Amino acid sequence: MSRFDTVQPHTDAATLTVDLGALVANWRQLAALAGSEAGAVVKADAYGIGIEPAVTALSGAGCRSFFVAHLSEGIRARSVAPEATIYVLNGLLPGRCAVYAEHALSPVLGSRDELAEWSGFRATGAAVRPAALHVDTGMNRLGLQPSEALDLARGHDAVAAAGIGLLMTHFSASEDEADPASERQAADFATIAAAFPGLPASLKNSSGHFLPDCPSYALTRPGYALYGGNPTPGRANPMRQVVGLEARIIQLRSVEAGAQVGYNGRWTAPRRSLLATICLGYADGYPRNASGTDALPGGTALVGGVACPFVGSVSMDLIILDVTDAPSAARGEAVTLLGGPLDLEAVGAGAKTIGYEILTSLGRRYGRRYVGL
Ligand SMILES: *Cc1c(COP(=O)(O)O)cnc(C)c1O
Repeated sequence: MSRFDTVQPHTDAATLTVDLGALVANWRQLAALAGSEAGAVVKADAYGIGIEPAVTALSGAGCRSFFVAHLSEGIRARSVAPEATIYVLNGLLPGRCAVYAEHALSPVLGSRDELAEWSGFRATGAAVRPAALHVDTGMNRLGLQPSEALDLARGHDAVAAAGIGLLMTHFSASEDEADPASERQAADFATIAAAFPGLPASLKNSSGHFLPDCPSYALTRPGYALYGGNPTPGRANPMRQVVGLEARIIQLRSVEAGAQVGYNGRWTAPRRSLLATICLGYADGYPRNASGTDALPGGTALVGGVACPFVGSVSMDLIILDVTDAPSAARGEAVTLLGGPLDLEAVGAGAKTIGYEILTSLGRRYGRRYVGL
């Protein structure tokens, strides 16, 4: 039993298993590949697996730099990593400098206004950790324009006044090796990094680790691949699986050909079929877009190793499977929704989304079991 477990064996209808050993192995693999310091992106509750267990496991393995999106997530990460450097990617909302100071968090500053506010706060003598400076090389989302960053580099006082300890940018399409954006972003970042000599820099997200001839700089920022997502879509997944999801069959029924199934009868049985209803639905974070209709197939579950399609709409608390071809199907049996051949990419595709969204939507209602450490 891990102290993070929330499993209630006598009441749970579904269980999420999180392999913290695989998380750590993935982090080590990426660090070795980068040949530099690897940080860990633990925003969105560590992509859904739980920020406290993830940060605890990775800190124990030697990870010293974490990235979160929100200040509140930074405070949670700090509660289990008293020494680490914790960067808040979404930057500085007005009037929050003192909260950063209180929890020794590092804002990722992305505009002249944020720089000015942070510098003003530092000038009052407040004790703060070094901040990061975000440069936007192509997303038009967060960060200084490259020209603004180069201007800033010319007046070194501004960088010193803001106490900048890291320069970073973010790829917009690194999972697609054929997209020329990464090479252009890397070249622009190299120019900017050269204008800030001696300042540690950070470029790579998960997929960035697998781009040929791409420099790692001082620190990398993997997220998705740590949690078992495939950073090289279309090729074999080099990462270990971290999450597994199982739910129980509550009821089985036979239906005749022509029977309509689920809300609004969106799936019609093409033959006499055996259906199984399982205890998991969209309220558990499984997207309703994984519904299996007459027009479009949806998600899949493994019943005794046999892939069984979702039929009808995904309900709030239930999903119906066609288990006609799964001889083991039985009341109370646990079926696999995530794990083995049903990896994050396959589940994302079945729900017309990406594996990232599957992970970050993982539910809060089922029991969670942390293993592997
Ligand atoms: C989310 C995020 C990452 C991690 O990206 P992955 O593709 O999950 O590895 C890295 N850097 C920034 C700025 C991010 O927002």
